[in-house]
Amino acid sequence: MHEECGVVGVSFKEETSAALSIYYALYSLQHRGQESAGITVHDGDQVRTLKGMGLVPDVFKKEDIQKLKGHVGIGHVRYSTTGSSRIENCQPLLVNSKSGTIAIAHNGNLVNSKDLRSELEKEGRIFLSDSDTEVIAHLLVKELMHSELKEALKDVMKRLVGSYSLAIMIDKKLIVIRDPLGIKPLCLGLLDNGYVVASESVAIDILNGQLIRDVVPGEMLVFNNGTYESHQLIKSKNNAHCVFEYIYFARPDSVIDGKLVYAVRMRIGEMLSQEHPANADIISPVPDSGITYAIGYSKRSGIDYMEGLMKNRYIGRTFIMPGQEMRETAIRLKLNTIKPNVDGKSVVLVDDSIVRGTTSRRIIELVRKSGAREVHMRVASPPIISPCYLGIDMATREELVAAYKAVKGVEALINADSLGYLSKEGLVKAIGIPMEDLCMGCLNGIYPVEVPGESCSKRQLKLTEF
Ligand code: AMP
Repeated sequence: MHEECGVVGVSFKEETSAALSIYYALYSLQHRGQESAGITVHDGDQVRTLKGMGLVPDVFKKEDIQKLKGHVGIGHVRYSTTGSSRIENCQPLLVNSKSGTIAIAHNGNLVNSKDLRSELEKEGRIFLSDSDTEVIAHLLVKELMHSELKEALKDVMKRLVGSYSLAIMIDKKLIVIRDPLGIKPLCLGLLDNGYVVASESVAIDILNGQLIRDVVPGEMLVFNNGTYESHQLIKSKNNAHCVFEYIYFARPDSVIDGKLVYAVRMRIGEMLSQEHPANADIISPVPDSGITYAIGYSKRSGIDYMEGLMKNRYIGRTFIMPGQEMRETAIRLKLNTIKPNVDGKSVVLVDDSIVRGTTSRRIIELVRKSGAREVHMRVASPPIISPCYLGIDMATREELVAAYKAVKGVEALINADSLGYLSKEGLVKAIGIPMEDLCMGCLNGIYPVEVPGESCSKRQLKLTEF
């Protein structure tokens, strides 16, 4: 099961209530998960949780937030497109143990969760959900039986293969961890009366906080009564930050690993125009994910930016719809053309990525039907040739159009007059982080951790303990 999620953790001094801040933070992270949402708080005495299926405003009502008393807490939004739309998989996950109540919110995906789970099951442990977060909870409880928090978490981390940004609450302590390769984002912010840690810095902005820094890969932060300590538990020579966060997933107003996502996308747009110029009348984004790229492309090429397509913003991402037929209907529901803007024109369309190719094919058809003379497709990511095992819900290898078709083949399939993908080198340059510190598994098939049956970059795998 692949999951994309958003996590948040808040720790205030005793008099300040955490629930409302977590609620706002989750609202700002809604794009990271629309399937379920949850908040767990601790008031020094008691733990309270509220979670449910649906969007943040559907799950939490004003009265509920007021009842969630406590100055420390964690929150989670979840996005999974597999069959497991189950309440049991909603987070935060809560377990009771000898060490107290433990609540966990997890963004990422463990590659070895099946193995770990069967090992734990052989020891007689029982699982209530099919999420890998429960595996982490079991391992942690086990380690805490005989070790202090720091040692326990270090030992847990040594067992985990994959991506994990974790917000954990053990009694009234907030603990956050970022995996040793920093695959998923996690950042730290200063608030009026405490601290916030969140998947993206927009959550800090919404709380009027100040971004302090990213959580360092392999670092653990422990918050207690308005202060925090940092411990570097495991260190890696290289990082493996997910490039797809920059390409598609994160909000453009977030700063991830020191890079403003908007600026990265502008640079990508400019580079696309250099790598794949077009002789066209207008450049139009596929809204919303193509907008910043199209602005960059227009700026560098001098071609007029004009919206050829309008999006119905009240429809969720098309991937949420199960089955191919529903997905195609969803595209029609989602986008309409502004006919005079494309009629009789040569149009460059820019989108962030082509996964299966369905979206581009339908959109090009739509634009042609509205009278476009030529439609040139420009894509902000290099071809996606391999699945993601580390937390982006993409598609299986069989579904990935670029896994078995060259550029010309995809161009024919989507019926574009020309198709240009950004190069891998261009992407790395636009992000501004060296290639050896990025995870580009979906683009080159080389993963930063060992995935059975796939190639692994040994350089990123090297971890050292502290
Ligand atoms: P398709 O090529 O039809 O599979 O879909 C590509 C479109 O889906 C692009 O326009 C992207 O904006 C969007 N997209 C790419 N990756 C994802 C993802 N992981 N979840 C949801 N939508 C995505």
